[in-house]
Amino acid sequence: MNEKTKQGAERDRQHLWHPFTEQRAWCAEDHEILLIERGEGVWLWDTEGRRYFDGNSSIWTNIHGHSHPHILDALRQQMEKICHSSFLGFSHEAAGLLAQRLCEFFPANTLTRVFYSDDGSTAIECAMKMALQYRMQRGQEHRQQIVAFANGYHGDTLGAASLGGVDLFFRRFRHWGMKVDFVGSVEELQRRDASSIAAVVLEPMIQGVNEMRPWPAGMLRCLRHWCDAHDVHLILDEVMTGFGRTGKMFACQQEEVIPDFLCLAKGLTGGYLPMAATLTKEGIYEAFFGKEHVFYYGHSYTANPLGCAAALANLDVFATELQQELLEEKCRTFSSLVQTFSHLRGVREVRHLGMIAGVELHGEVGTGAEVCLAARKHGLLTRAIGNTVVLMPPLCATAEEMDFAVRALTQAINSTNP
Ligand SMILES: *Cc1c(COP(=O)(O)O)cnc(C)c1O
Repeated sequence: MNEKTKQGAERDRQHLWHPFTEQRAWCAEDHEILLIERGEGVWLWDTEGRRYFDGNSSIWTNIHGHSHPHILDALRQQMEKICHSSFLGFSHEAAGLLAQRLCEFFPANTLTRVFYSDDGSTAIECAMKMALQYRMQRGQEHRQQIVAFANGYHGDTLGAASLGGVDLFFRRFRHWGMKVDFVGSVEELQRRDASSIAAVVLEPMIQGVNEMRPWPAGMLRCLRHWCDAHDVHLILDEVMTGFGRTGKMFACQQEEVIPDFLCLAKGLTGGYLPMAATLTKEGIYEAFFGKEHVFYYGHSYTANPLGCAAALANLDVFATELQQELLEEKCRTFSSLVQTFSHLRGVREVRHLGMIAGVELHGEVGTGAEVCLAARKHGLLTRAIGNTVVLMPPLCATAEEMDFAVRALTQAINSTNP
């Protein structure tokens, strides 16, 4: 271990506190702390000069790979002008361009308005507040219920966490959070009295944190019909599924559904900067006209110009390097590669959609983490949720690179299940 690695790890043990991490085990002497130093394409290098495949797209954010020249150029150009200015009281060009391009992914007069925030959790907070305030301003105060799906995940700030259905993460704070109703399926929702419901929140097509679990085909469209029939708003959380991850630009396009609120974050900037957007319809936006109807919500870094520049460049790269046919071809390659996991003795089930896969393992709690640790030795970094190992490569991954990742994970699974 070189000096830089040693000192970095030591400082980490002394001063840092990591998310979703049991810190005593993290700080233990026999736990090797990797310090990531640089990245290019699907590859990451640590301070020891070792190269790894970025197997979960740097916690589900990266789209076109690291250090993409076009995104770096866009950031440099923006940086030379200004890094941040206030969006309270002023506007800037990139914010408008980005909003226009996001809305253009949807038919005219559907999603037309963009409200920026900082990350997935705040994109959700913002949609919830809009949905509730909208009802107050339309004389529908009786509609104040928000419904979420069991085992869903929508972020960790207190409001977004109230929508979280994964008990391990959220049960401690139930008492303080918002009152939220949970359902397990659309059928269950159909049996509910809809008259007090303001909005339903869903991760479309596939639940991420719930160990990569796809919904049954047609579920999303069915939910949209029910919402329409009962005047309930549909909030789609595409924080994980957005920007090509499922094989279409947005997961809702898989079933030709347009939500009333669309929440975007992680991949919005290509995975380069924290930034989020909540898209909504003109009719909802118009309910906020008038002095007494102002939407009192915002963050200091709202519409950060660097974030907007990265997001615009991210969309450029889709147009120049990752057109729909190529993305679909990559998804087919990925699909046939990950299906090979199901032949391994240590694997219980493989779930996948687009460029997202969850490989559920047999074995005791902790097997997932153990396999991920073993995968490091084969040049793959990723993270497990429970006993499901996530494989979610950046979309720029070539067939050879995907093959590398699948081989590495196969060896790791085999080595932990002799
Ligand atoms: C990651 C995630 C969030 C939260 O986003 P943050 O940027 O971590 O706040 C919300 N919803 C889904 C579906 C996610 O995957």
